Amino acid sequence: MAKFDSDWIPPLAMTIFAHPDDMEFSCSGTLAKWAKAGCEITAVLCTSGNVGTHDVKYTEASLMEVREHEQRNACQVLGIKHSEFLRHDDGRLVADLTLRRELVRLIRRYKPEVVFCGDPNQVFWGSNRINHPDHRAAATAAIDAVFPSAPMELLWPEEGPVHEVHGVYVRTFENVDTWIDITDTLDLKIKALREHHSQLDDNKGLEEMIRQRSADTGKEKGLAFAENFRVVRLKE
Ligand SMILES: [Zn+2]
Repeated sequence: MAKFDSDWIPPLAMTIFAHPDDMEFSCSGTLAKWAKAGCEITAVLCTSGNVGTHDVKYTEASLMEVREHEQRNACQVLGIKHSEFLRHDDGRLVADLTLRRELVRLIRRYKPEVVFCGDPNQVFWGSNRINHPDHRAAATAAIDAVFPSAPMELLWPEEGPVHEVHGVYVRTFENVDTWIDITDTLDLKIKALREHHSQLDDNKGLEEMIRQRSADTGKEKGLAFAENFRVVRLKE
């Protein structure tokens, strides 16, 4: 099958998201499917979600510890090999050169063909939600690290030999062009989300919501359950 087809699976992939659980909501059905097929995946967490609670029993430090533990367990459920925590502060993530350079270092070290990230242009979700600014910052930094930074020999040579990412799988609602069948891994997606106890234990309707959303996404292509992406094909 051709590169970037729905059934194509690269040997190496990386996810770059702002908070623990972002990756699970965005693309974990696909990740579990790819991992099962032998893809070696690295999950990069720009923050450890250290202010993501209304529960006053936590401090920033204790919440960070809990959420990293939850994230590692979720990675294990999905078959994700590596997790990298950059530990920027939650709610204050900025797509600056420090963050971009850290991402360049990881892209050059792990050499993924595919990078998954969010959509830096997504400010609103429908008519009643605002996208978290950390999500936009992580997405911007990810894309700017992939291009032009990681492949430029003269840019930060001390961060390792250059690497060219082949494609970016953007989780978005616009210009979506690739549907991935997650029928066999939907249960793993839900199980991985359930590892984020500090975030989702109160969310009783979570499983139903994920099933419904995945079914709605799949319907357009005659799939029982799917995730979809805008795939930016940098290297065909
Ligand atoms: Zn988030």
